[in-house]
Parts: sequence; C-alpha cells; structure tokens
Amino acid sequence: MKKIVVLTGAGISAESGIKTFRDADGLWEGHDVMSVASPEGWQKNQALVQDFYNQRRRQLLSVEPNAAHYSINKLGEEYNVEVITQNVDDLHERAGNKNVLHLHGELRKVRCLACYSVLDWDGDLSNKNLCSCGGNLRPHIVWFGEEVPELQNAARIVSESEIAIIVGTSMQVYPAASLIGYLPRFGKIYYIDPKPALNYELTLSQDRLTIIEEAATTGLPKVVNNLLAEI
Ligand code: ZN
Repeated sequence: MKKIVVLTGAGISAESGIKTFRDADGLWEGHDVMSVASPEGWQKNQALVQDFYNQRRRQLLSVEPNAAHYSINKLGEEYNVEVITQNVDDLHERAGNKNVLHLHGELRKVRCLACYSVLDWDGDLSNKNLCSCGGNLRPHIVWFGEEVPELQNAARIVSESEIAIIVGTSMQVYPAASLIGYLPRFGKIYYIDPKPALNYELTLSQDRLTIIEEAATTGLPKVVNNLLAEI
C-alpha cells in the first residue's frame, strides 16, 4: 500500500461548526488568544483558562464529523493513511480514523503538572480535580510559546509518505509549516482550500502540486475518489 499523509487544520473542522481563533483577528470564541492559549495566560488566570476549555469540550459534544473527515477514512481502504492534524478536536477519531497525530494536543485529554501523566477527560476540569499522584491538571493543549512534542514524529511520517494531501490549513504557521520541508522530492501533493494561500516551500513544488479551490467537504472527497480510481 502506498503511504499517504493527510495534513489537516482548522478548515476541515470549521464545516462541522468548530470556530478557531483565525476566524476573528486573534480572538478565539471572543477571547484574546494569548489569555486562553499561552503559559502566561494560565499563570494569570487559571479559572478563565479552565472555563474556556470546558466550553470547548462541551461544544465538541454538539458537533459531528463531516464528509471530509469520513472521506479520509475511505482512503484507508486502499492506502496506508496517516493524519497529522493541528486541530485539538476528536472529529477524525470519531469518523473512524485510527492513525491520527495531534500536533497541538487534544481537548479530550488533560495532563498532570507533577508527573506528566496524560489522562482522558470528557467533563469539566477545575483546580479541584487532581491526578492520582496529587498533582494539578491542565488542558493537554500545546499553547503559544510551548514546544510541540510531536513535531519529530510528524516529520518522520511526512518524510516517509509518497503522497500528501493538505486540507483546511495553509501550513504557513510555524512550527507546523516546517513539515512541508520533509516531504520527499517526488510524489503528488494535493492542496484543498477555498482560498489557497501557498506556503513558500509549496511554491517550490509547483510541478507536482495540484490545488483544488474548494471547501474540504467537497474538495477532499473528489481527491479521495481520484486516488481510489488510480489503484
Ligand atoms: Zn500526576
């Protein structure tokens, strides 16, 4: 089976109704992103940060995966598919995808500040909730200014892939943007976006790049059907 990497971002979840900070000039659901998505924000007001992610976790229960998420699943019938997402929602998993790497963490997980254990978490989180070791828990989200622990794993997956599909992200924001540099210098690259904005590295790969100017829910199923027809 050929190996395909699918790089996904906010655009694929937007069609399920999940908003991100990029929708409104540095605001994420009405909050300044630095106040809810940075270590400084956490130090300043933990209750606000907890409440923010509690709301995001609740919102997640009210949305469903869309045709784009499901079409990646279909691709898995004939290809070895790995998803690398910048999204913190679990819509890929709920669509049935098992090989999903979350670059920026996961809403439905929390992490112990003392022993670094990562726990599944579905309800609200407050400072009263403690790890079994007694440590405090924080959202398992990679905040601005923090390292991206999965970046090396992601780079390995990208470098081993024969075909790449980029959907719902322009891959312009670092460090995720650096992953484009790991794509092997052969093999097709599909970029699906209603308003394409090319990552610089992608402009160097024009000869093997196909741009589909469509939303994820229409563009991705087309690419998937074409790839399945090629088998
Ligand atoms: Zn602990």
